[in-house]
Amino acid sequence: MLYTKDELNDMIRWGGDIGMFQIDRPINNIPLDDGTIVRGSCNRFKTKYCAETCYNLKLYRMYPNMKERDIRCERNWQKMGKHNTWQIAEHLSKKRKQTKRARFMSRGEACANKQDVFRIKALAEDTPDTNWWLPTRAWRNGYMRMLIEDELMTMPNVSVNASFDPSNDEHDWEVMQIRHGWNIMFYGDDSPDAIPFSKSFACPKTWKKMKGHCSICKGGCFSSTVINRQSIVHLSEH
Ligand code: SF4
Repeated sequence: MLYTKDELNDMIRWGGDIGMFQIDRPINNIPLDDGTIVRGSCNRFKTKYCAETCYNLKLYRMYPNMKERDIRCERNWQKMGKHNTWQIAEHLSKKRKQTKRARFMSRGEACANKQDVFRIKALAEDTPDTNWWLPTRAWRNGYMRMLIEDELMTMPNVSVNASFDPSNDEHDWEVMQIRHGWNIMFYGDDSPDAIPFSKSFACPKTWKKMKGHCSICKGGCFSSTVINRQSIVHLSEH
C-alpha cells in the first residue's frame, strides 16, 4: 500500500531540538473504542527505569492529542516496506531543511520486533544519503541484538545506539562494550562515576544546551559511522 502526502507529512516531522527529521511511535498500548489496541512499541524492551521516568508520560498528560497522532503514526509505520520506502526517499529529497541525518524514533522503540528491523533496512537502502540515528533497547534480547548487527550495522548509513539507564547492571555494560559497532547512550544519572569502566563522551546538546547540535555532532551518537569509532555518550538529565 502506498502513502498519501498527508501521511508522509504526519509521520515524518521536523524536530528543532535535534535539528533533523524524526519518526514517532506509541510508547504504551493505546485502547481503541472498538475494543482492540494499538500496541506500544516499548512494551517488549523497556526497563523499569523507562517505565517510571519516561518524559513522554508527562507530555501525554499535557497533550492528549498526542495519542491520536501516535495511532496514525503506528498505522503508517506498519505499512512501511520495500514497496513504498521509495516514497519516503522522494519525500525527504523535496525538503529544504537538512536530510543528511534523521532519527528513528524520537518517541517509542524502532526495533520492537524482527519486521521492524527489515522496515528500517528497506528505508535505509532507499535513502543512502541520509544517516539514520537508531537508539534502541532491543539489544537486551540476544536474537534482536544479532539481527541488528547482521542487518543494520552492516549498512553505512545506520548509526545504532544501545540505550542504557541506571537500571542496567555491570553485566550489561561488560557485554555491550565489547560488541563491535554499538555506540552506547546513557541517560538518568549526571554524576561523573555513573558510567562504569570507560571514558564517556559528554553530549554537547544536553550538557552545553547546544540545540540542534545532533545534526553536526561527530564524537557522539553518530561516531561509529562518521569517524569509525564507538562512543559511550553520557546525556545530562537537566
Ligand atoms: S551526543 Fe551528539 S548526536 Fe548524541 S544526543 Fe548529544 S549532541 Fe546529539
